Amino acid sequence: PSNISETLTESVKCYPDKIAVVHQNKRLTYRQLQEQVNNAAYQFKYKYGVQKGDRIALLLMNGIPFVVSVYAILQLGAIAVPLNTKLKSQELKYMINNSGARMIIANLEWWPNLKFVVEETNVEHVFITDTKIPEGTKPYINLVNTPAETIIDAAVDEHDSAFIMYTSGTTGRPKGALISHFNMIHTALNYKYCYNLSSADNTVIAVPVFHITGLAAQLVPFIFLGGKAVLLSMFRPKEFLQTLQDEQITHVIASPTVYVMTLLDPDHDTYDVSHLRVGGFGGAPMPSETLKALKKWVPAIELHNSYGLTETSSPVVIMPHEVQLQEIAAVGPTVPVAEVKVVDPETKKELAPGEVGELIFKGPMVIQKYWENEEATTKAIKGGWFSSGDLGVVDEKGIITIKDRIKDMINRGGEKIYSVELEEVLYSNQKIMETAVVGVPDETYGEVVKACVVPRKGEGLTVEEVRQWVRDRLANYKVPTYVEIMDVLPRNPNGKVIKTELRYIP
Ligand code: ATP
Repeated sequence: PSNISETLTESVKCYPDKIAVVHQNKRLTYRQLQEQVNNAAYQFKYKYGVQKGDRIALLLMNGIPFVVSVYAILQLGAIAVPLNTKLKSQELKYMINNSGARMIIANLEWWPNLKFVVEETNVEHVFITDTKIPEGTKPYINLVNTPAETIIDAAVDEHDSAFIMYTSGTTGRPKGALISHFNMIHTALNYKYCYNLSSADNTVIAVPVFHITGLAAQLVPFIFLGGKAVLLSMFRPKEFLQTLQDEQITHVIASPTVYVMTLLDPDHDTYDVSHLRVGGFGGAPMPSETLKALKKWVPAIELHNSYGLTETSSPVVIMPHEVQLQEIAAVGPTVPVAEVKVVDPETKKELAPGEVGELIFKGPMVIQKYWENEEATTKAIKGGWFSSGDLGVVDEKGIITIKDRIKDMINRGGEKIYSVELEEVLYSNQKIMETAVVGVPDETYGEVVKACVVPRKGEGLTVEEVRQWVRDRLANYKVPTYVEIMDVLPRNPNGKVIKTELRYIP
């Protein structure tokens, strides 16, 4: 198949009555999934005038409406814009306006965040997935339950855009990674090949599908394969373990935090997880003790580190399982169709083998540009090579180890937080004179946020006040776990804040 819509059509042909997606007590076969997708595509096209290239935003947690909406949007050659459901009004407004979305499909529980911003955007219709819908919105259920009068043929070419996925930016403004059908098909193929997956595999999606891992490393490849994808609304260790057992899950890919928390559950070894064959992890560094504990828990599991970014449509690097346990700290070689170079972060000149430098990647999964953001595109992508902002080294066998980060980002259990965004929000508080935001180590999340704050003279500022200021403006996961009120920030002779000196728990 040359586009994502065709992958569904192919799977329907081969496995019409096989279960495709599961969420709570709802199960759809491939045939039922396609019927809902076609109904929605019909309504979008003939009732709401959706055309190729239009953007439709999704504010949906993991569930069947997300899957149906994505495949209906893609069938029309339109572009899906999955948004993080944890975002607050101001964060959402920026992404909706930047993408120019005409329609939004949302769960009722996100409506309070959405209703204040819809009027400040060009959104014409909001569809709500619940049975009770607020005034001014439309029922999603009518999109999928009204029978279509015709089959909608997929109107897509392989290089057409499929998704805009927002990633935070070094400038504080999110950037929309423009992911094409071609990018996604290659991610799915890499997956099938590197993880040796087939239609007999079942996966559980315990990470959000609005992020690249859940979307490009689980949902899209599993529909492509004709496998079964079980979606969990959110990650809770017991529900996750029960699903591994009941749904005979063979494949998982998740952030290290998901595995850490699963192993922390005192009952984890009372569940039957004997079907689990492949365990992928990525998005953040994996603690070596967790890796060893996983192997002990499920001895037959094939473990694979997977490294990637939203801009590479998920993993560009996948560790073969035979090598994983010998190379615990390494992320692996690039997938066969991708290439890596290690360059000087400033000059972008290639370094000698064995030297630590910035990792840059090229391959058919790498995006060509950010949505309507030439400045960011020119900065990050040159001649098809994408600058990752991560520092690493490649050994003589081509195996990559991540050493550090150049980008000022905090990785909280796989959720990425850019210091500059938080610093800007803190600076908007009149009581704050100076601030610097850093990540500090955490056993469960890998890293959590610490805000160092210098109040203006004479201003009484409390830790809770600082946290509340952020909570009112940004997603809860960005709220600092630690706040340190300081007299001055440590600076080097050029006046630059020395962030390394702030990376301790107060
Ligand atoms: P998701 O948000 O779905 O977890 P992702 O982590 O692949 O996806 P981004 O959110 O764009 O994508 O984050 C990319 C960054 O995450 C990388 O630049 C790197 O710093 C970090 N990262 C990703 N995978 C790994 C890994 N296997 N080991 C260490 N760090 C990783």
